[in-house]
Amino acid sequence: MTIQDNANPLGFAQLGITGTLLKAATDAGMSAPKPIQEKAIPPFLEGRDILGIAQTGSGKTAAFSLPILSRIIGLGNKRRPRTARALILVPTRELAVQIEKVVRELAAGAHVSTALVLGGVSRRSQVKRMASGVDILIATPGRLTDLVREGEVVLSDTTWLVLDEADRMLDMGFINDVRRIAKATHPARQTALFSATMPTEIEKLSKTLLRDPVRIEIARQGTTADKVRQHVVMARLRQKRTVLAELLSDKGMGQVIVFARTKHGADRVTRDLQRDGFEAAVIHGNKSQNARQRALNDFREGVVRILVATDIAARGIDVPGISHVVNFDLPDEAESYVHRIGRTARNGADGEAITLCDPGEGNKLRQVERVIRMPLPVSRDVTGDPDPVQPKTAVPSKARSPEAASKARNGGEAIRKEAAGKPQRRKRNRRDRKGGSMRFGSKAA
Ligand code: AMP
Repeated sequence: MTIQDNANPLGFAQLGITGTLLKAATDAGMSAPKPIQEKAIPPFLEGRDILGIAQTGSGKTAAFSLPILSRIIGLGNKRRPRTARALILVPTRELAVQIEKVVRELAAGAHVSTALVLGGVSRRSQVKRMASGVDILIATPGRLTDLVREGEVVLSDTTWLVLDEADRMLDMGFINDVRRIAKATHPARQTALFSATMPTEIEKLSKTLLRDPVRIEIARQGTTADKVRQHVVMARLRQKRTVLAELLSDKGMGQVIVFARTKHGADRVTRDLQRDGFEAAVIHGNKSQNARQRALNDFREGVVRILVATDIAARGIDVPGISHVVNFDLPDEAESYVHRIGRTARNGADGEAITLCDPGEGNKLRQVERVIRMPLPVSRDVTGDPDPVQPKTAVPSKARSPEAASKARNGGEAIRKEAAGKPQRRKRNRRDRKGGSMRFGSKAA
């Protein structure tokens, strides 16, 4: 079946979504199912496990929420204390908040209770919320592990389990927590695992957690790359602050998200921007949940025009209207580049992605080009090197227009003042939990 571009109000009904859910989906602006919803909802409603290879933006939240809600609505409110009927496990707090919002929106008009269990905010209110049990729990692995270990959350009645952005949970060092949590859920549960990529570890995890899953693959959003104008500015680390300030002074720039590789780097970029007279907010894993949410809200509502973010914190953030993405650093993982640039050009809008590349980041640039399967043109070069791009980076010479080459020769003059900047050390994963025994599998009271 192919999806028509025009809205088809019967689409979700044909997939088996009925009643209040159908109305709520339409009210939420989901009139025609997206491909992942079309493929995942019918088997999920039949009770099949799902292995979904799809990215944020594909519509996967509704793909798993609608079938779970349609099974939960009507079960009544007889739940055991501290239990959850469904668990949605996600890597970041922002994604958890976002998913809960969608779930509540879709559950409008039905009696469905939800809870959030995530780090960075008070545990007390979470424990209180879980006391009488909930229908749908959305959680990050770290805090959930703690609360399960302490017996404040009991997963033995959890018969639906969704692992969202599994590859990111792996990157963040959560994989053992995820295994333990899954083991603590009901043995006869139904499971869906979504991941943007399928590294071997995730493939292995899926084999142990899923039973005869329906495999759904939604093509990489290659289209994003087509819609986003992408180019590289060659600049030394110490020049990047000035280049960034110059770029952001351009009146044509609307909402901008600036990516830094590390939390420390993100803080430094934000501080420098503020000193240079820009209003910028920062979002990364060391910030409290409240600070992160405030930064995101300010950015979403246009109170600040610039959001500085690390890859992990920005993952899954769906803010419409971002006109530019600036990569202050190349990402450690080339795949992250695709997620970064996917923050712009959403819903058919135009977007531009500018990558500031130190000659020493040439290898990373090459890896990005391999992932996106195209060369990234150098639009400007302020390093002052006669040809800093070759041989250190792989931008093929044909990707550089004569214009760009000329700019490359003259660009050094554009930078008069140089900001002091130290190369950043790589930090360890935020969470590398020690084993520790957990009281998982304990019976619900
Ligand atoms: P997700 O991948 O679940 O984060 O969804 C990405 C965006 O697509 C969100 O802004 C959703 O509200 C939107 N969306 C999801 N499903 C549909 C649909 N069937 N029609 C229109 N928009 C949708």
